[in-house]
Amino acid sequence: MTNTARYAVIGNPIAHSRSPFIHHAFAEQCGISLVYERLLAPLDGFNATIQQFFAEGGKGLNVTVPFKEEAFAQCQSRLSLRARIAGAVNTLWMKDDGLHGCNTDGLGLLNDIIRLGFDPKDKRVLMIGAGGAARGCLLPLLEAGCHTVQVVNRTASRAHSLVDEFLQHCPDYQNHLRAGGLDSATSEWDIVINATSASLGAQRIALPALRFSAHSLAYDMMYGAEPTLFIQEAAQQGASQQADGLGMLVGQAAVSFEIWHGMLPRTENVLDQLRQAL
Ligand code: NDP
Repeated sequence: MTNTARYAVIGNPIAHSRSPFIHHAFAEQCGISLVYERLLAPLDGFNATIQQFFAEGGKGLNVTVPFKEEAFAQCQSRLSLRARIAGAVNTLWMKDDGLHGCNTDGLGLLNDIIRLGFDPKDKRVLMIGAGGAARGCLLPLLEAGCHTVQVVNRTASRAHSLVDEFLQHCPDYQNHLRAGGLDSATSEWDIVINATSASLGAQRIALPALRFSAHSLAYDMMYGAEPTLFIQEAAQQGASQQADGLGMLVGQAAVSFEIWHGMLPRTENVLDQLRQAL
């Protein structure tokens, strides 16, 4: 075995993951020597696989579907606030006192929105969806100073539960966070984020016609070679800019990289290369 520091992304399936490409590109940019692999864990063997990885000297793991909640459970009290609120972990590292975990998805989204030229401060944000991805993004958006984040969901009760649980952790955001069904998305928005899985199945979200402000962004967490239905409709309804979640993918990787290596890499070149390969 070499002495080169080992990192990996763990999931099932995992063959499609672009994380090795992203992390090797970041490492080259920062002058760091590392190996970053794909690790396929059996569906009932996540814990055994990560224990073996770290016992063999592995330094850090990214965690993807379907193991983010299991990773959360393995970290017990050694969780960042972002991970605790998300209820899920996508970044693991081992210290003397045990396994530590963070969730970098939300910060990845925030940094991508800023890269696109939208400072979330004082902005009215519509978050569509109340699953894991939406949950992980609330804290970074609110910490960035959004005027309002309204979470709307097909199953309205899930949006209300999500917001109630969030406010138990962070009651200071009471006046900045709302919940409702899809039909409550009737205000004018500066930033609209599709955090549903509707785009995965090319499904339409049953929203009222959205009203966008003059300088507005429609962001779909899903990414692909073609604009999603959500992006197409948002453009027709007046969103001045549209983006997909490829930048969020690279952004969350950059924040993981910073946790492990203490340097936040630039994302533009990697993003361009991934975009061309889609
Ligand atoms: P979950 O399965 O946890 O949540 C799915 C959400 O989508 C629920 O709120 C569900 O509503 C809603 N939904 C599904 N179908 C429809 C529909 N037809 N109309 C309206 N709402 C619908 O998924 P995640 O939160 O984990 O992921 C959501 C999306 O974010 C996925 O597309 C995923 O690929 C993407 N993602 C992208 C990342 C990136 O780096 N770019 C990172 C993480 C996620 P209900 O509660 O009513 O069922």
